[in-house]
Amino acid sequence: MTAKIISGRDVAEHILENELSKKVEVLKSKGVIPNLVVILVGEMKASASYVAQKEKFAAKAGIKSEVRRFTAEITEQEILSEIDKINQDPLIHGVIVQLPLPDHISVAKVLNRIDPSKDVDGFTPNNVGKLFLGEDTLVSCTPKGIMQMLRISGTDLNGKNVTVIGRSNIVGKPVSILCQSENATVTMCHSRTKDLNHKLADADVIIVAVGVPKFVTGEQIPDGAVVIDVGIHNIDGKLCGDVDFDSAKEKASAITPVPGGVGPMTVCALIENTIIAAERINSA
Ligand code: NAD
Repeated sequence: MTAKIISGRDVAEHILENELSKKVEVLKSKGVIPNLVVILVGEMKASASYVAQKEKFAAKAGIKSEVRRFTAEITEQEILSEIDKINQDPLIHGVIVQLPLPDHISVAKVLNRIDPSKDVDGFTPNNVGKLFLGEDTLVSCTPKGIMQMLRISGTDLNGKNVTVIGRSNIVGKPVSILCQSENATVTMCHSRTKDLNHKLADADVIIVAVGVPKFVTGEQIPDGAVVIDVGIHNIDGKLCGDVDFDSAKEKASAITPVPGGVGPMTVCALIENTIIAAERINSA
């Protein structure tokens, strides 16, 4: 079997051009321009490239975006004050802090300071709690993008077995909650999981967010499973994911590539969250 490729790049493009830009037009007709602020601290090359992609997608959807850049020497208090200013600015609808932050700054403190109604990364305890309770909320971007890709690729999760590898707060945990809310039976695996192969054996869908290049290979994938590869690694100038794409595509029925899979969907979800935040703030 050679898998169908689920192109996140194409799905994101479709959503940006056909759905999000229309919502933006409606908001603009009411005098509202959705506005996203990205806080970028330090000079990390990978962070700068993610931020550039966010600016590009924002422009495609017709929303405003601004990057506020700070040196790695900025104090925690200075970042908190910046977030306070953004929280109070009625013309800003969404804010994200590009991670990682320098070691002297508490990520939890910084994220918790963001007004939940502007928390377009969906990282604040308020929004995470709502997700857990099944309430309407700003859902964090990578899990949201994964769910959109599954939906658009025609994967119905109802009654299916989903195995998630990785239990991070930004991917593994939230995506497992979202899959459960679509009536999947979810198995969560992590670094202490015994006999991972056994947990994969009856999976209909496998979501891999481990942070280890080519961690899952074709041998571990049951015939016909749908494989979502969240990982992204630069090995000698070449990008790859947490899944060994070449062997996995021979077993899976559908698979996301790296690059061009989950990455663009994450950015697309961020733009959509900013539009949702603008709609909510202006209808309140
Ligand atoms: P993380 O490092 O926070 O978590 C990794 C998880 O993998 C942990 O829960 C750990 O228990 C688990 N794990 C580690 N070794 C394991 C093993 N041997 N067996 C089973 N589980 C194991 O990672 P994260 O933030 O979720 O990111 C995972 C990957 O996804 C990284 O490569 C990251 O760069 C990438 N990522 C991509 C996007 C995107 O938009 N494409 C977004 C977020 C993260």
